[in-house]
Amino acid sequence: MSVNRYTRQQIIQGYQDIDKKLGQQRIAIVGCGGLGGLCSYLLVGAGALNINIADYDHIDESNLHRQILYREKDIGESKVNCCKHELKKLDRRANVNTFNNKITQENFLDFTKNCRLVLDLSDNMETRLSINRLCYKHKIDLIHASVTGENALLSYFKFSDPDFISKYGCYECLAGENATIKPNGITGPYASAVSAFAANLTMQVVSDIIQDKLGKIYLFDLKKFAIKSFSLKKSLQCKCCGNYKEK
Ligand SMILES: [Zn+2]
Repeated sequence: MSVNRYTRQQIIQGYQDIDKKLGQQRIAIVGCGGLGGLCSYLLVGAGALNINIADYDHIDESNLHRQILYREKDIGESKVNCCKHELKKLDRRANVNTFNNKITQENFLDFTKNCRLVLDLSDNMETRLSINRLCYKHKIDLIHASVTGENALLSYFKFSDPDFISKYGCYECLAGENATIKPNGITGPYASAVSAFAANLTMQVVSDIIQDKLGKIYLFDLKKFAIKSFSLKKSLQCKCCGNYKEK
């Protein structure tokens, strides 16, 4: 076997042609901060050369401890622009579309045009619930990852499959429509660890080697270095995917 850019990844069973499969798809990533920045970098490194990234934030000094794509000189700059710059430095073939605005019903189809799936790596509940509803509505698969203090959550919602939805539901079934999160602490290593798992789950989804992960949610106790998995369960009362009707 000749050595190429992806040789060490290709040696792993099931990963032989993962770079080619990633290269044939486009992936939409919401958020390029602590999770989305590193996750997009790992994906481009693995061969995912077609990426859409959305973030309307600018780089702040308080981001630098965990948002490892950014440097002191980048403070005040647009995150998506800096992120794109770093991704192109990693692989000049990378085709990166940037969305320097909030993803809403109005621009969702433009953001996800020709995309295999959406990764929601945003940092607020309003965006998470909104992205979940939009992915569900348009039947686009969603990977959700989030860190709250010393806990994290990772799951794949196969919205392209009606059987999946009837059995396992959506992110809102899990979080509830009124879910809120208080500002919580986060360390660089915690954000990076969860980014890495989200990137690997994306590689497995694109390569269709996720059978054992379908319908599961992974809960990380980052303090204890422990990961537990549970089965997702559809809520019939869910206002997104359930039978709930407004009175
Ligand atoms: Zn639901």
